[in-house]
Amino acid sequence: MTDAIKVLAIEDEESIRDILVYALRREGFHVKAAATGEDGMELLERFVPDVLLLDVNLPDADGFDLCKKVSSNVRIPILLLTARHDLVDKVLGLELGADDYMTKPFEIREVIARIRAVLRRRDIERDGGSRASGLVALSGRLELDRPGYAVYRDGSPIKLKPKEYELLLLLRDHPNRVFSREEILDQVWEMDYDGDLRTVDVHVQRIRKKLEEPLIETVFGIGYKWRGRSRTC
Ligand code: CA
Repeated sequence: MTDAIKVLAIEDEESIRDILVYALRREGFHVKAAATGEDGMELLERFVPDVLLLDVNLPDADGFDLCKKVSSNVRIPILLLTARHDLVDKVLGLELGADDYMTKPFEIREVIARIRAVLRRRDIERDGGSRASGLVALSGRLELDRPGYAVYRDGSPIKLKPKEYELLLLLRDHPNRVFSREEILDQVWEMDYDGDLRTVDVHVQRIRKKLEEPLIETVFGIGYKWRGRSRTC
């Protein structure tokens, strides 16, 4: 499924990295992994994960520093992987921006449970009080039904094609980020499409026409960004 939860694991220990990748893929997550802080930061930009698993002890970087850096730039749940029991206080106390931590060695089932827990917290935070009804306001008249894959205007459904819906969701979930057409193609169409960048323009035009509101803004010379209401950041 193209809307699988995306997890990025930054972990230099190969055996742990392999286990994480294998187990999380089997769980249905879309997983990418990096062995260094540098590769990890590059993947973070390109892959735009929903959750970051971050080893605090990396060969080229201090995971605590990376955590602070990431959390001050993007609102992404971060789960720290640490072998240092004595640094638990630091993890919890220093407002690093991490959402949770796991001490090695860990049970993979527990990692999965914690990932699901941080995602639930993120969703509740993101969607605020309207979570109870399952509907999220996009504007005064438009509402998003995330589990139902639908958008409503004044309570009536608007027919969006799956890729139109996914494109809308990608921008809406990253309200402060400008996406280039290449990035949108890569994120929404993934690898199965070596398409024309104009495909993105055509889809954005269709979404705008259907929603009848300028929620997607053109960033001249670059691409598109979300302009509608959002509580995410
Ligand atoms: Ca390590």
